[in-house]
Amino acid sequence: MTGVSIPYDAVVEWLRSFAAVMAEQKDYLTELDSAIGDADHGINMNRGMQAVLGKLDAQPSGDVGALFKTAGMALVSTVGGAAGPLYGTLFLQLGVATAGKDEVSADDWSAALAAAVTGVQARGKAEPGDKTMVDALIPARDAFAEAVAGGASLQDALRRAAAAAEDGMKATIPWVARKGRASYLGERSAGHQDPGATSSYLLMQTAADTWAGDAEGTEGGK
Ligand code: ADP
Ligand code: MG
Repeated sequence: MTGVSIPYDAVVEWLRSFAAVMAEQKDYLTELDSAIGDADHGINMNRGMQAVLGKLDAQPSGDVGALFKTAGMALVSTVGGAAGPLYGTLFLQLGVATAGKDEVSADDWSAALAAAVTGVQARGKAEPGDKTMVDALIPARDAFAEAVAGGASLQDALRRAAAAAEDGMKATIPWVARKGRASYLGERSAGHQDPGATSSYLLMQTAADTWAGDAEGTEGGK
């Protein structure tokens, strides 16, 4: 995809790719959650994204917002625990921001990421540094917006967002968790990468991989 906006079919492809990544990374995410949670994050994300896949064939084509709404509802209704409502909210808010659109421009995506983060924070009350998925999503949102404001292409902005999410994910390692199950461990949560920040990084990386091709872009890199 080399255009200046993301067409509907490419959004479907992102969801399918993320489902495949969640299936592949199920054991890894669960292993991360076994260190500071209850060892189910990979299971939760895989179950939820398989449910999303199950809804795609019946989804009427063309409305990105409606597609995201379907994905968000599937996640909320099939995944318990923290991740279901939080990822459900993330996709529902992407859907609110893209309602009625048959393609997504860089500005649309910037607004959608902002809405998604606002929704996740409203729902979970996590602030930056609490060692949650927000610590990958906020840097991705900000890097994307900054790249677009600085004149970067949509593809380059997607790559920068993924790189920022990766940095945000890694930054969670030394932190003490202040939200979710990991917070019950107090100081013992330090030294472990947050599972939700990891799945959120993978979400952003999958967007870059799906919509911007491989990381060796021809548009000036990072
Ligand atoms: P549970 O904690 O219910 O077992 P999961 O294991 O699927 O759910 O998801 C855990 C992840 O959810 C954490 O690693 C963290 O990133 C995220 N999380 C937990 N609570 C919150 C919150 N209040 N706000 C944002 N993210 C949260
Ligand atoms: Mg868990």
